[in-house]
Amino acid sequence: MGLFALIKRKVILGRGSSKFEIGDNVLLVDRKGRRAVFSLKPGRVFSSHLGPVSHDDFVGLPKGTRLKLPGGSVVTVLSPTLADQVLGMPRGAQVIYPKDLGSILIFGDINQGCRVLEAGVGSGALSMAMLSVGATVVGYEIREDFANRAQKNVTSHLGPDTQYSVELRDIYNGIDGTFDRIVLDLPEPWRVVEHARRALKLGGIFVSYLPTIGQVETLRRELDVVDALMFKNVDTFETLMRSWHIEGQSTRPDHRMVAHTGFITTARLVGQPERWIVP
Ligand code: SAH
Repeated sequence: MGLFALIKRKVILGRGSSKFEIGDNVLLVDRKGRRAVFSLKPGRVFSSHLGPVSHDDFVGLPKGTRLKLPGGSVVTVLSPTLADQVLGMPRGAQVIYPKDLGSILIFGDINQGCRVLEAGVGSGALSMAMLSVGATVVGYEIREDFANRAQKNVTSHLGPDTQYSVELRDIYNGIDGTFDRIVLDLPEPWRVVEHARRALKLGGIFVSYLPTIGQVETLRRELDVVDALMFKNVDTFETLMRSWHIEGQSTRPDHRMVAHTGFITTARLVGQPERWIVP
């Protein structure tokens, strides 16, 4: 199909209009699979290894078009997926990788209508993942620059109409309100376990993401403390993702992989055993 026919074809994607507008995020992918993500602003020029391109030239272009740029490179022009956005967006703190975001959403059972407390919000990658499945997210963050960065990243990818608020506060000092899920990506989550016992609804899920196994051991000891309310169904796991190189006769795993990111621990808050009362 020629470029002209492609431009005339209506390409419907999940998010928003089928054509690019000012404010949209754009993903450019070149022939070698190299990627660049940027947000369309009037009068601006995006510069990369592909040469300079004017943002205004993308306005009205159907999403999914292949284009020959002034510098001669052929690129595919797409709306970034959440994974593209997370890896391409400006970061203050280290983001959680897409493979781990997926695991947290499923094993933390984050879903539409869930009220989630998240700390700290960092660059907002995890916030974006949870908001995009319809959760309401209250974030606690101790650094003002990260709180602002996370809110900007969320608005840039999901627009202004999300159920998202970020409070500048230290979660080690306590949690206000009650939540269905408490999701932590910070260095000492065991200092939150007592607060979580009070703030989680019964049956609610506690999720922690930690880079080292020593931290996981400390957390697991704290989760094992038995009180009137206790944590059960405690699981710790990691997610390994190995991509493959498939070209002609050469079919093999890629030589390099991100071998370690973090350990995910999930636990459910339950009460003391009660006697079964038969009516
Ligand atoms: N999950 C985030 C990255 C979080 S990085 C993402 O996907 O983008 C860890 C964050 O926790 C940092 O921003 C740090 O400032 C914040 N933090 C550390 N201790 C905290 C505390 N006690 N209360 C709230 N936030 C905290």
